[in-house]
Amino acid sequence: MGNISLVLLAAGSSTRFGLPVKKQWLRTGQKPLWQFVADRFAKLGTFSDIIITASAQELPYMRLYGDYHIVTGGASRQESLRNALNEVSSEYVLVSDVARACFEQETLQRLTDAIQHADVAVPVIDVSDTVVYHNETIDREHVKRVQTPQLSRTSVLKQALQSSEEFTDDSSAVVAAGGKRVLVNGSQEALKITFPQDLLKASCLQPPAPDTFSGTGFDVHAFDTTKKSLMLCGVEVPCGYGFLAHSDGDVAIHALIDALLGASGMGDIGELFPDTDERYAGIDSKKLLQDVLQRLRGYGFELVNIDLTIIAQKPRLGSYKQEFRKTLAQLTELPPVHVNIKATTTEKLGFTGRGEGVAVMASANLKYYNWMQGHTN
Ligand code: MG
Repeated sequence: MGNISLVLLAAGSSTRFGLPVKKQWLRTGQKPLWQFVADRFAKLGTFSDIIITASAQELPYMRLYGDYHIVTGGASRQESLRNALNEVSSEYVLVSDVARACFEQETLQRLTDAIQHADVAVPVIDVSDTVVYHNETIDREHVKRVQTPQLSRTSVLKQALQSSEEFTDDSSAVVAAGGKRVLVNGSQEALKITFPQDLLKASCLQPPAPDTFSGTGFDVHAFDTTKKSLMLCGVEVPCGYGFLAHSDGDVAIHALIDALLGASGMGDIGELFPDTDERYAGIDSKKLLQDVLQRLRGYGFELVNIDLTIIAQKPRLGSYKQEFRKTLAQLTELPPVHVNIKATTTEKLGFTGRGEGVAVMASANLKYYNWMQGHTN
């Protein structure tokens, strides 16, 4: 099969899926679904290349998972496919959605046999229910459910996708362009994961690994005496001075963000929100935290607990600790018992001891989102 490339479409936003995690980032064992499917296909056959499409935001993170050929997708399935096809030079191309996780070797064999006599080979499933079309019962023998992946002659598919029309599968594009489609038997096992309840029917998937990931963060901000209050843990503390910062200077949230990014392997706060970027001038750090939490959840993580140590000689923070805890619990959607806040001084030593600013250390633990929970019946 050296003359077949595989295109794996994983740039979707999972808008129909209804879970916080994006479909391509659901974990089976330790692997995100896109990696699991890519590795599974790699084992099924010797593809000359495996090309994976990713959204521009996710692409750098995906690259951390291994040496895969990843290209930027587009706004639609078709645009993503067009971008991927630009990198395909083999005679044939197999196109699969990441949601078709449990695809089988037998179907692949039927597709490669059938493509000798066609421009696109398509796995289909017979329909066992009675089918009514426009209020008329029709012969279900003539009705087929079309699956992916589909195997196409690369040149024909490239030509067919020049059309501005949006097609729901490759074979419709090829047929519309005058190409020949041949049907082969698909597999009930190879269902498409569209909704969360489909996950339990996908027999090749494993539950997510029970690993815990910890991360730490540290940040310092100096006081700015031209301001009247400072922001800590998303709470305004009216103490007669504020923080010198590009954002609102919430040093506790910044340390927390770094702990979250550390646990998920996503880098640091400066990479995500550079302080040279005018979009972040004076920004409410709660918005940055929410952005990070959304990315984490999208990538298949769930927060377990957070713990912060605020190091400050002034202002006195003891009376704020419960409000800090409550506010961070709300922002992170954690129970308050899983949000711990400690305040300490440095016994008048060093820059915090001299009352020049505040330092915060944070730690966070993450686990994989367990898609089996709540979908076990
Ligand atoms: Mg900072």
